[in-house]
Amino acid sequence: MQVFKFGGSSIRNAGGIRNLGEIVNGNQECKVVVISALGKTTNDLEDLLSFYFEENDFCSRKLNEIKQFHFSIIKNLYLGKGFPLKHEIEKSFNWLEDRLKDKPGNNYDKEYDQIVSLGEIWSTLIVHTYLLTLGIRSVWMDARDLILTDGLYRDARIDWDKTERKIKHSIQLDGEEVYLIQGFIGGAPDGSITTLGREGSDFTAAILGNILNAESVIVWKDVPGILNADPASFKNTEKLEEISYLEAVELAFFGAKVIHPKTIKPLHNKQIPLFVKSFENPASIGTIIHSMNWKVDMIPIFVKKDHQILITLRPRDFSFMIEQSFGQIFSVFNRFNIKIYLVQTSAISLSICADTDERKMDKLLSELNKEFQITFNEEVQLVTIRHYTREAIRLMTEKKQILIEQKSRQTVHFVLRDN
Ligand code: ASP
Ligand code: MG
Repeated sequence: MQVFKFGGSSIRNAGGIRNLGEIVNGNQECKVVVISALGKTTNDLEDLLSFYFEENDFCSRKLNEIKQFHFSIIKNLYLGKGFPLKHEIEKSFNWLEDRLKDKPGNNYDKEYDQIVSLGEIWSTLIVHTYLLTLGIRSVWMDARDLILTDGLYRDARIDWDKTERKIKHSIQLDGEEVYLIQGFIGGAPDGSITTLGREGSDFTAAILGNILNAESVIVWKDVPGILNADPASFKNTEKLEEISYLEAVELAFFGAKVIHPKTIKPLHNKQIPLFVKSFENPASIGTIIHSMNWKVDMIPIFVKKDHQILITLRPRDFSFMIEQSFGQIFSVFNRFNIKIYLVQTSAISLSICADTDERKMDKLLSELNKEFQITFNEEVQLVTIRHYTREAIRLMTEKKQILIEQKSRQTVHFVLRDN
């Protein structure tokens, strides 16, 4: 049994959904299909939410744009006539329209999850209906009732026991059914909707693969597999045939966009291989992520994380940076749920490279400022090179100012700023 996952860029138009249908139809082993929102819908919903919070007039225009986009795909798939779920989609858009007329609540993250999660609901309704027209016995599943989480909006953590019970109860693998489910979204204990973090659909696929003991999970992408650098910023990229779980998790954590960092653990724990394959060219091999015990020579692999902040903290009284201060500092980051990627200490300072979150940064800094003297650099870049060479380092750092450099045997990290 296999779990397939299709991301938004694969299903950005009717042609993409037809291709998905062909891939699912051609694979008897595919029993579970996880999908993201169509195309750039999640970004569009994020914009919509910003307009809503700013009480900006663009809000209704944006909503209309999103609606038109979905209905044009429905039309292009010829699902218009007698489309059984058209009513469901219309109902959902009407709900959203009404919701946007009310004043936004004061919990931004919660509002985000209730609204941005709709992208996956719409995409699954459309793809489900299309699969039925192909004669596939698609079963539309509701992740809000199946992938159960805590209430940490926008970065919810899975309640594995409850989720396992629900999934095992709802999915029967011995029939002809293909279960279609939204990636990225889940349900909190109070019945509200949660999301698992941007690009979190890969993680949903891994959760299902783990619980259902899949033979493999396949993520279908608009690239031929995992490349040694992002083709959007590098000219000569090479495809990696196979990488270890460890390699994959390091790359994903430090910014490789090809796979969500949380995807690897559930698969590693059950030794389920993950294939990253080309949506355009399904017969090609792609990349396999699995256990690799032998030592292979790897080529340099480059990953970048933009929009980072580098914060340096010093105790105000020139005392040493001691363990107690570390505890204090990290607990503040934890409370604001801001992710830290690199830490460097000296006798009287601690530097942290972390994600920037516009909505939280001022509060975080003023909290830290109570005890520590702070300096910071915004919009820095964290560059990671695995299996680095001198040439690889030159390529990444030339014409840049190096603020921090950290090297181990396999990995080098740089915090860089434009000169
Ligand atoms: N649609 C969500 C996003 O764009 C989840 C995903 O694509 O994995 O972040
Ligand atoms: Mg996506």
